[in-house]
Amino acid sequence: MTSGSIFAEGFKTTPWWWEWAPPTAEGSVPPPRETEVAIIGSGYGGLSCALELARAGVGAHVLEQEAVFGAGASTRNGGGVGFATNLGKGRSGQGSAIEQQLGPERMQAMLLESQESFVHLEHLIQRERIECHYWPTGRFVGAAVPRHYDRLARQAEKLNKTVEGDFRMLPRERQHEQIKTDLFYGGLMSERSGRLHPALLHKGIRDAARRAGATMSAGTKVTGVERDGAGFVVRTTAGDIKAREVVATTNGYTGPELAWWRRRLVPVRSYIIATEEMPEERVRALIPHGRTIADTKRVLSYFGMSQDRRRILYGGRASFAGDTPENTARTLHTMMCAVFPELAGVKITHGWTGFVAFTFDALPHFGQHDGIHYAMGCNGSGVVNMTWFGTQLGRKIARTQNRPSAFDGIGFPTRPLYTGRPWFLPIVGEWYRFRDRLDRWLA
Ligand SMILES: Cc1cc2nc3c(=O)[nH]c(=O)nc-3n(C[C@H](O)[C@H](O)[C@H](O)COP(=O)(O)OP(=O)(O)OC[C@H]3O[C@@H](n4cnc5c(N)ncnc54)[C@H](O)[C@@H]3O)c2cc1C
Repeated sequence: MTSGSIFAEGFKTTPWWWEWAPPTAEGSVPPPRETEVAIIGSGYGGLSCALELARAGVGAHVLEQEAVFGAGASTRNGGGVGFATNLGKGRSGQGSAIEQQLGPERMQAMLLESQESFVHLEHLIQRERIECHYWPTGRFVGAAVPRHYDRLARQAEKLNKTVEGDFRMLPRERQHEQIKTDLFYGGLMSERSGRLHPALLHKGIRDAARRAGATMSAGTKVTGVERDGAGFVVRTTAGDIKAREVVATTNGYTGPELAWWRRRLVPVRSYIIATEEMPEERVRALIPHGRTIADTKRVLSYFGMSQDRRRILYGGRASFAGDTPENTARTLHTMMCAVFPELAGVKITHGWTGFVAFTFDALPHFGQHDGIHYAMGCNGSGVVNMTWFGTQLGRKIARTQNRPSAFDGIGFPTRPLYTGRPWFLPIVGEWYRFRDRLDRWLA
């Protein structure tokens, strides 16, 4: 048991989601000596790719380094789903710089594909009858300072011209209709977004992939991939596998064995806490319509109520240097109480972490390098994205894609001397935190 008044008896450092759907090795088989497509990583990306390939009659085998499937971000995330708002969400005008670089047509195509990816997730949940508590609650992004309200308004106007997300502004004086806090200066609402149970979604896609005929091996780490004639040989801790095609969907868990990708991804820990159960009326009083909430800070927070309406799940970057689950849970508790002071006496039952993969241009990346197909770098928005990109990778390999993905083949930038070890994070993270505080003092 952990001492300290904010911790409930039996506090756990595993995701609250795992109480329903703990990652398992169920269905794991020994790796084959040969497969048509070898897929590295068993998150949404790898499994969606396997599902789509199997549906098209192409042999697909998923390789997972951990003893269980889905031990990465796919069973640890906040379960917030939406589209478009996070595209090119870089700071200091990075979003528009990217638009300039890629051109307005490409950017528009990406936005439309982002909308399509959301529709795809809803369709997948229905088609495969995935019981993942999908709840189309809509979303509210709170402006941390007044000028962010104007920025959000510009973003809403732009998005409404291209996609059908029904993006609307909610001024501060009406904010309590959506969230009982005075911390924000109004915000942006979008209707086409919601919440789901990430681990149940993961289980649903895994089951669907297996039903369709895909196979998978847990406890099988890929240690290298080499060209072998027209195909590849995949070196694993359980022996070599010959494959016609190889797919890498390792995202925030990419190791040195995939050095080219590791140099392009910045793995950042994100943390979440779950409060103890409260009466439903108390939770509903805080977020009356159950919307998913995020804010506009550089070091952002994301939160919402659990699908049983009895808890608050609060996530954010509680530490950039890595810290104990107890310390990061304390930090998140303090952050949560800044939004909802009435939760000061409420204890925490779970506090956990996982790696999010950031990219240097704040865009997700999809394509092929040295013959290896990949999709990675969702900058904290991978539930919809990786399910979509995995499916698109499957279609591309099976040649069942209607048209190339708008994300396919854009340059995947790195930085000189960066090898995948983000030594600069504590410094940059603290600088961002300081800038957030400064913005509020000056507001
Ligand atoms: C705390 C947290 C909160 C988040 N909240 C949200 C949210 O609310 N909404 C949202 O859209 N997104 C959110 N995300 C992001 C989202 O969860 C991820 O983008 C998404 O799950 C990535 O899926 P994936 O399949 O690409 O990778 P993962 O699910 O991370 O899977 C990658 C897998 O690859 C395996 N692997 C790595 N190397 C090897 C190897 N050499 N051999 C074999 N296997 C290997 C890993 O073990 C891992 O299982 C959050 C992420 C975190 C961590």
